[in-house]
Amino acid sequence: MNCFLTFTKKQLTSPSILDNPIEYLKGVGPLKGDMLKKELGIFTFGDLLEHYPLRHIDRTRISRISDINPGTEYIQVAGKLENLSILGDSRSRRLVAGLRDKSGSLELCWFQGIHWAEKNLVAGSQYLVFGKVSFFNGKPQISHPEIEAFVPAMADGKSHLEPIYPTTEKLKARGLSGKQIGKLTAVLIGLLSAKDIQENLPDPVLSRRQLMPRFEAFVSIHLPKDQQAYENALERLKFEELFILQVRLGITRLRRHRYSKGVVFEKVGEYFNDFYNNHLPFELTGAQKRVLKEIRTDTFKGTQMNRLLQGDVGSGKTIVALLTMLLAADNGFQSCIMAPTEILATQHFHGIKHLLREMPVNIRLLTGSTRAAERREILKQLADGSLHMVTGTHALIEDPVKFSKLGLSIIDEQHRFGVAQRAKLWAKAAIHPHVLVMTATPIPRTLAMTAYGDLDYSVMDELPPGRHPITTVHRNEMHRIKVMDFIRSEIDKGRQAYIIFPLIEESESLAYENLMDGYEHVKAYFPEPKYWISMVHGRQPADVKETNMQRFVSGDTQIMVSTTVIEVGVNVPNATVMVIESAEKFGLSQLHQLRGRVGRGAEKSYCVLLTGTKVSNEARERIGIMCATNDGFKIAEKDLELRGPGDIEGTRQSGVLNFKLASLLNDKELLENAKIEAESLLNRDEDLNSVENLPLKNFLVMQKGKTAWSKIS
Ligand code: ADP
Ligand code: MG
Repeated sequence: MNCFLTFTKKQLTSPSILDNPIEYLKGVGPLKGDMLKKELGIFTFGDLLEHYPLRHIDRTRISRISDINPGTEYIQVAGKLENLSILGDSRSRRLVAGLRDKSGSLELCWFQGIHWAEKNLVAGSQYLVFGKVSFFNGKPQISHPEIEAFVPAMADGKSHLEPIYPTTEKLKARGLSGKQIGKLTAVLIGLLSAKDIQENLPDPVLSRRQLMPRFEAFVSIHLPKDQQAYENALERLKFEELFILQVRLGITRLRRHRYSKGVVFEKVGEYFNDFYNNHLPFELTGAQKRVLKEIRTDTFKGTQMNRLLQGDVGSGKTIVALLTMLLAADNGFQSCIMAPTEILATQHFHGIKHLLREMPVNIRLLTGSTRAAERREILKQLADGSLHMVTGTHALIEDPVKFSKLGLSIIDEQHRFGVAQRAKLWAKAAIHPHVLVMTATPIPRTLAMTAYGDLDYSVMDELPPGRHPITTVHRNEMHRIKVMDFIRSEIDKGRQAYIIFPLIEESESLAYENLMDGYEHVKAYFPEPKYWISMVHGRQPADVKETNMQRFVSGDTQIMVSTTVIEVGVNVPNATVMVIESAEKFGLSQLHQLRGRVGRGAEKSYCVLLTGTKVSNEARERIGIMCATNDGFKIAEKDLELRGPGDIEGTRQSGVLNFKLASLLNDKELLENAKIEAESLLNRDEDLNSVENLPLKNFLVMQKGKTAWSKIS
């Protein structure tokens, strides 16, 4: 993409010391250089500078050995080394020693590097020791401590805070321990001056946020003069990471607003109005109306809409999608809605077709299992423009699919689709169609601001009226009969129930057996012909799946036994019970998504989380959260907390979350501030042309070559 930032690239050819190959650094050389490249990805001086310390040892903060208690984690102590001896034979061989201070003694222990320790440690001398305390037979012990000759602090004139760096076992064996890497870093920092690390943040931002200058921050994060200096350096560099990302995302967004050409939905016409006035089955919620207004504004402007619609399970995203599709039709454009599974695509198709049953709208379904003759017809109608709308799966982005006038692409349940797939849909039209991306469950705000920060953003924070909150309970196997009795009582009232079994990732056949076992059990409780059961799983051909699904939708069967293929989007308002088997195996957002299959109608609904009798603490916490709240936004935050952003679906491929220092979990406030600063800056100077923003602009241009930050658009 030809970005306005690229033209200054020529100006930036002056070589920087930070680009020097790492082997040129004094103390490194070719051998260690190779190791650093292989093990830690440190190729240049600059890479070493950004290899940040894990922590600092405060050489003045020495604890008494008698202060160690069962809650102690890491500790630094000093004392006399005694009783060095080698114990055990070949496999359990270890070196042990005692360390004694005035208050008591502690055992030190080495399983590896015994030779080194034997050679270098001298009984009777004073040592400074740092490490993680464990207890063995009730006595405190440190395995593989960091250990060095004790020099009283202040006596050597060095800073009290000594950096310890991440390293690997291989590097340690080659003389590059966490401490030794620190020596290299110190050499490097000695070579640098402020001109090598130029400021990239504008002055007003620095002063408003009271941030440390860049050069000073790089020095102080490695070699701080005190704890405060370290913290200030850390804050500055974290802010920089977050701010730079926000500026980039902001530029992508603004550039799209300014340059992208979009089709214009000029009018609200007959299709929309007829449906809205005559066929809409309910009053829209305030949130639905607000989002529709946002969409209307976006699609009228002449630039491409690229909007993320976040809403909790059951907040009514489908009808918003449909009304937007009608808007497209009013302006002579085709639209498509892409879903991650056939079940969901099929359901969208039937749902929308039903809503439009009295209107002259041509809508069809295209999936992997659409038969050849029908597929040909659909492709023909798409190409000649006689098809208004199409719902489907990935089949929609395959090459033979050509639209005559695609104006709108809707992607449901976004996190199942990669960014590349999203982009493929756009390419289906000469002028990019408007894109509306709908999430299955909310994503945490910090993630929305980063991983999806290039999109405009709408939130539906209101559920349709009259919903009873779903009651969620945790039961274990021992209560299975009671749970089945409960299902029976609901069915006898005319309701329906889901029973969900987990997918077992390591073994598809095990998952299948598990499901079949479950099915037999359920059948024993609910015999035909009084009760009928549908079963849906991944191994069935699409038409069997579809038939079983339809029987449940139409109420012919009262129970749906299924794997998680049912997870996304399925809508059967008469179902009031969701039983999740082996609930401990599910993640939070998946549980919430599953639970969202009930509570969609007027009746009170229930979710039962069934587990074994033994449940890990973490699973217990997830289940506790589920029982405590129905709020998808809260659950999303908790999910992020428990799993970390790397594991949240859809973020990995986005490639924007590789922060070195900042964390979406712990630096929320910093992120908010970085976003505020980035936005206000871009509002005033979108092209970064002012003198005060020039350093930032130069920095972005330089970085652009190094990282693929523009990937996400
Ligand atoms: P989701 O946001 O999870 O995709 P759906 O679009 O499937 O939610 O809607 C959930 C249910 O709520 C559907 O049965 C739908 O018909 C119903 N619904 C949607 N909007 C409203 C509304 N404004 N008032 C009443 N019911 C609504
Ligand atoms: Mg949905």
